[in-house]
Amino acid sequence: MTSEASHERGAMTVPETIDLTDGALAPADAAARALDALRASEHRYRTLVRNAPIGYLIAAADGTVLEANDAACALFGVPPAAARTLQPFQYCHPDDKGDLEQVLAELLDGSVDTCQLEHRVIGADGVEHAVATTIARVDGVAPDAETGDNPEHYLVLLRDISQRAEAERALELAQEQTARLARIVETTSDLVGISDHPSGRLTYLNAAARRRFGLDEHEPIDDLTLGDLYTEDSVVRFTDEILGVLDAGDAWNGELRMIGRDGDAIEVWQTITAERDDAGAIVGLAAVGRDVTERRRMETELAYAATHDPLTGLPNRALLIDHLELALAQASRSDDTVAVLFLDLDRFKLVNDSHGHDAGDALLRAVASRIAGVLRPGDTVARLGGDEFVVLCAAVRDEFHALAIAQRVAACIEGASFDLGEIDLELTASIGVALATHHETHPEALLRGADAAMYRAKDHGRARIELFDESMRRRASERAQLAEELAHAVEHDEIRVLYQPVIDPHSGRVTSVEALARWAHPTRGELTPKDFIGLAEDTGLIVGLGLRVLHLACTQAAAWVEAVGDRAPIVHVNLSATQLGAANLADLVAAVVERAGLRPELLCLEITETVVMEDAEAAISTLDRLCKLGVGLAIDDFGTGYSSLSYLRRLPVDTLKIDQSFVDGLGPDPEDSSIVAAIISLARTLELGTIAEGVETAEQLVLLAGLGCSGAQGFLIAEPVPAEALEASLRTGVDLGALGVVDR
Ligand code: C2E
Ligand code: MG
Ligand code: MG
Repeated sequence: MTSEASHERGAMTVPETIDLTDGALAPADAAARALDALRASEHRYRTLVRNAPIGYLIAAADGTVLEANDAACALFGVPPAAARTLQPFQYCHPDDKGDLEQVLAELLDGSVDTCQLEHRVIGADGVEHAVATTIARVDGVAPDAETGDNPEHYLVLLRDISQRAEAERALELAQEQTARLARIVETTSDLVGISDHPSGRLTYLNAAARRRFGLDEHEPIDDLTLGDLYTEDSVVRFTDEILGVLDAGDAWNGELRMIGRDGDAIEVWQTITAERDDAGAIVGLAAVGRDVTERRRMETELAYAATHDPLTGLPNRALLIDHLELALAQASRSDDTVAVLFLDLDRFKLVNDSHGHDAGDALLRAVASRIAGVLRPGDTVARLGGDEFVVLCAAVRDEFHALAIAQRVAACIEGASFDLGEIDLELTASIGVALATHHETHPEALLRGADAAMYRAKDHGRARIELFDESMRRRASERAQLAEELAHAVEHDEIRVLYQPVIDPHSGRVTSVEALARWAHPTRGELTPKDFIGLAEDTGLIVGLGLRVLHLACTQAAAWVEAVGDRAPIVHVNLSATQLGAANLADLVAAVVERAGLRPELLCLEITETVVMEDAEAAISTLDRLCKLGVGLAIDDFGTGYSSLSYLRRLPVDTLKIDQSFVDGLGPDPEDSSIVAAIISLARTLELGTIAEGVETAEQLVLLAGLGCSGAQGFLIAEPVPAEALEASLRTGVDLGALGVVDR
């Protein structure tokens, strides 16, 4: 700012002193001095106004700006030189214009002399300022030079309050934020509480916490301490553990037991933090937690379900193995050893079949509680499923001790009948006992040993106790080895098939052949079914093995059709229990038959009587499906099981194979002879064919022919032989005379 500029403007706007600038009537030097003094004063004043940190402007009633200082120009974002070009309201924020107009109107109509208002300004530079504006009507600030009139003017003071407004906004925001946080804390379903430290007195509980701890919404809490909410052991943890963590400057996370509304213990997973004073001392504790009682309860239930048998509530296999591991570890540090009793109820299936599953379940529960009742503390009884129970005796001296316990268990089952409401049942059990030796500490091996011994008990006539000994152990490991080799054999074509002919005892014609599996073992030579079929059943390998045999037999049957035409025999293939139980058996058979290009009626499937009768209903439906394929069905080893006549009528079979044991006694043994005669006449009544198995003498053959038996199979006629060795007899039939059958 220059003094010149100041002077020039001063001519128009010097307040109050304007008359004195014209001192023509005063003595010349006094007037000049006065004028100088006046000018100096005006200059000071003007400089002051101009540089004042407050915006200042004078406007005419029509809004024309007559003068504006630097601060005002800065607010409006214009250079000082442009002050007089400012228009009324030009830079007022559009939203605030209305307010400004209103107060101005009051000023203009004279109802007030000054007014104050806060509003926003958007300068020419685009910068927004919050301003506190004071407008005052003033007279005589600028008389009209020409008319001498002294119209009203307006003095406007503009104070930039942007910073203050911003601070206020920040404060407001912070307050809003705090209020929101408070609302969130109050309404969250998590439990929140604050207490003083070290008094432990509660100062705050949110709504969820109040509900969980049984306090009303506005109930005072200042007489409560942490000890009223936390159980004693949790309070101890505060001093022992939690405060240490907080002292180190960390938050503590963990689960603490608290006291719920009804005085019940609840589990709360929580984070505890410390509040500190300016000196850093802990003055309060804040806890945010979640009630996990229900989740913990479910976890406990799930864990229980995963380790217990739902029917009897006894430990299941998984938990038994756990206990066994523990017992073995403990035994290794003492003179005692561990025994495992493997118990299987005898003929339990019969109970299920004849009295229904509810009775079966009730019996299993009763057995479970009887066994549990005779055990020593520390022993465990588990149920492995079905009717299999295992008793783990954690500390036994020797096998005699273990056998004594087994005897006690057997006696508790056999000693008294089971009263199942309507039904009164007598029951026996087969028990296998195995003892851990110093080198055998694997739970599974011990269980397998006891299992093997139990099977021997069954084999030896049930209701027995057998001890797993060294020789059994050796056989068990050989068996495991053989199982491995068998798996390999099925995959590598070591399984082959021999065929044994069945002839019409009258004509000698070969009507069918039975496919019998052999295992060409690389080191042990040729193995027969008794060496591997049972093993294959137990290990599930029978499925692959059976399919292999079926495939070879069907292919051979189709080849015979090619070779000998309508003299081609029906090929019999044996099915095991596992195969019969497979849901997709009919589909598998259909696929194999089709692939071999064989007419289905040239295949006959043999199922042993015991397997069929074990679950006759299921067998009927499976056999029905097979029958629909057009394949023949035969009951093998007939007479050894307990066929029910009613089932026999419903089974879609076409042939009964009379078991060798009856054929053996044909002739010399009148009882056997009459059984064979009865079977044949029964078969005839049911319109079934009969094949006598194991025919070894000409006499048997003659008798069978006389009884009307339709087929004979046995070493007398031929042993099982490779397919190619059969072709000649297929064409010509077997010469009965050469077999010693004379005078027919
Ligand atoms: P099975 O079905 O009753 O077969 C008859 C068994 O009696 C055959 O024994 C046969 O060689 C034998 N045998 C035939 N005639 C005589 C005789 O005059 N005297 C004597 N002492 N025995 C005779 P193998 O081949 O050892 O088969 C035994 C059992 O193994 C079969 O009994 C059958 O149940 C089963 N088996 C054989 N091959 C298979 C197969 O591929 N799958 C299934 N699941 N089981 C098979
Ligand atoms: Mg057979
Ligand atoms: Mg048989």
